[in-house]
Amino acid sequence: MSPCLRVSVVKVVKRPDRIYNRRIMFGYLAAGVLGTAAASAAGYQSMAPAGQWYGPTFTGLSRGTRQLALTYDDGPNDPFTLRLLEVLAKHGVRATFFLIGRFVKQRPDIVRELVQAGHVVGNHTFSHPNLIFASAPQTRRELEQCEQALDDAVGEHSRLFRPPFGGRRPGTLQVVRGIGLQPVMWNVTGYDWQGKPAEHVEQKVREQVRGGDVILLHDGSHAVFGADRSQTVIATDRLIARYKSEGYEFVTIPEMMAKEAIGSQLSAIS
Ligand SMILES: [Zn+2]
Repeated sequence: MSPCLRVSVVKVVKRPDRIYNRRIMFGYLAAGVLGTAAASAAGYQSMAPAGQWYGPTFTGLSRGTRQLALTYDDGPNDPFTLRLLEVLAKHGVRATFFLIGRFVKQRPDIVRELVQAGHVVGNHTFSHPNLIFASAPQTRRELEQCEQALDDAVGEHSRLFRPPFGGRRPGTLQVVRGIGLQPVMWNVTGYDWQGKPAEHVEQKVREQVRGGDVILLHDGSHAVFGADRSQTVIATDRLIARYKSEGYEFVTIPEMMAKEAIGSQLSAIS
């Protein structure tokens, strides 16, 4: 073999290798990017209030609807749930409360006051775990224990459920529906768990409201019973006054769902 020929052979062999290696590298890069994108999309959908990948959830009515629903998580809580009741009564507004079973067991009297005042109570699990990390049997146990606590406190109540932190994964909502509960998320976040002043909470809500919204606030804290929610109480007072003056009506989640059902029946007819 002449030196010349040897060179050309080497060239022929090396070039495809280089191309092949580049292809592999691009392949890895592309797979990496796509994989990361898919993983972050899946992660986003696990916690996103309005994400629908893991099954449909209720997140409010269509934009522009003149109805708003106030929802409160992590109660009952002493004394802020009762202070909130006073504010809601002052405005003649009824709201929806997603309660933690272990706090319901601790203070069933507060839950009875909620129901007697016409508010809706729903399930927020027994001990507030992130259901992304819970097996199906664990999820079922959390839901059933909370249902039992609510049954013991007030008897018949709504079939509404809100996952702690909004967290769910494939299978979570199947368990929820399997025991006859309806998942409810939200589309406006008050960020009131951050301990900021009422003005901040009010501002955050105002930035997101577009009509037909489910507003997430907290009358308690999953971390500790008795957490200070005074700013949520003040923000609630101001938000109701503001939006009522703008012609909005405050409704409970079942009332909003009924309106959605009528809306979809009408659009099916037309
Ligand atoms: Zn919660």
